[in-house]
Amino acid sequence: MIPGAFEYHRPGSVDEAVTLLTQHGDEGRVVAGGHSLIPMMKLRLAVPTHLIDLGSVADLKDIKAVGPVIEIGAMTTQHDLIASDLLAGACPILREVALTIADPQVRYCGTVGGNVANGDPGNDMPAVMQCLDASFLLRGPKGDRQVTARAFYEAAYFTARADDEILTSISIPAPATGHGYAYEKLKRKVGDYAIAAAAVVLTMEGGTCKNAAVALTNVGDTPIYVEAAGTSLVGTPVDDGVIAKAVAAAKAAAQPAADMRGPKEYRAHAAGVMVDRAIKRALARAKG
Ligand SMILES: Cc1cc2nc3c(=O)[nH]c(=O)nc-3n(C[C@H](O)[C@H](O)[C@H](O)COP(=O)(O)OP(=O)(O)OC[C@H]3O[C@@H](n4cnc5c(N)ncnc54)[C@H](O)[C@@H]3O)c2cc1C
Repeated sequence: MIPGAFEYHRPGSVDEAVTLLTQHGDEGRVVAGGHSLIPMMKLRLAVPTHLIDLGSVADLKDIKAVGPVIEIGAMTTQHDLIASDLLAGACPILREVALTIADPQVRYCGTVGGNVANGDPGNDMPAVMQCLDASFLLRGPKGDRQVTARAFYEAAYFTARADDEILTSISIPAPATGHGYAYEKLKRKVGDYAIAAAAVVLTMEGGTCKNAAVALTNVGDTPIYVEAAGTSLVGTPVDDGVIAKAVAAAKAAAQPAADMRGPKEYRAHAAGVMVDRAIKRALARAKG
């Protein structure tokens, strides 16, 4: 399919991009890696008449530690996440997740900003950002504001980002040294979106869980942060009985729709299995 006609803009700064977005209102759309937007345009599910390419905007492609916080620029590609030594040491779940996304060709172009801003419940990064308690920095005509990943997602393709705002970076409080982590994704084949997936990050101290977070991908209209699942692990040795409670909490929170990936009962069950596996793998990796 051929997309509708559009005018192409290539701003050199975030402010210039915001001005263009403000000027063109509903008709304008930013493009980052283009690996979600361009297929939507080819299907005419998105028909922007002004395409604002962030490819030449300086300072949006960076991964750095600022004190106890990791900052990732919105135009950082999924390949950059995989290749980052800083993330491999400080926040390895991001590498693990990025490796489950599509294939190398997609990951060379697809950006972390596009993945979290898109609002597609099938995207893998949003649940992980919720698990890590990340915040998204947005710039619009009125300046900058921050929204937590846990408060960002409202419905499928609807987020707290206003139409005239650009996501510039993601801030992640660096998880504690020795934390355990895992992302478990059930998919029909390599390159597919998840039937169900689960992210777990936890910290152990003296054999007891100090903190834990659990979130789900593609079993609802939005990523689902399951606070009750994380809370049920805290203060325990994370034995099988406690894991079963966390799994039950996650299954109760899942609201999958039936689709080509299976009926809703199967996908809710799969979400539970992914949580069980992710907790056990995170626990095996945790030191303390
Ligand atoms: C074959 C294939 C398989 C895939 N499989 C998976 C998968 O398994 N898991 C997964 O997570 N993803 C998957 N993807 C999606 C891929 O990861 C996308 O690249 C990603 O979701 C979007 O990133 P992008 O940079 O390409 O964004 P774009 O396509 O350029 O943009 C996506 C949307 O986000 C908006 N946007 C982009 N950047 C910003 C910004 N900085 N500020 C505000 N709005 C912005 C755009 O306006 C657009 O609405 C797949 C894609 C393909 C083609």
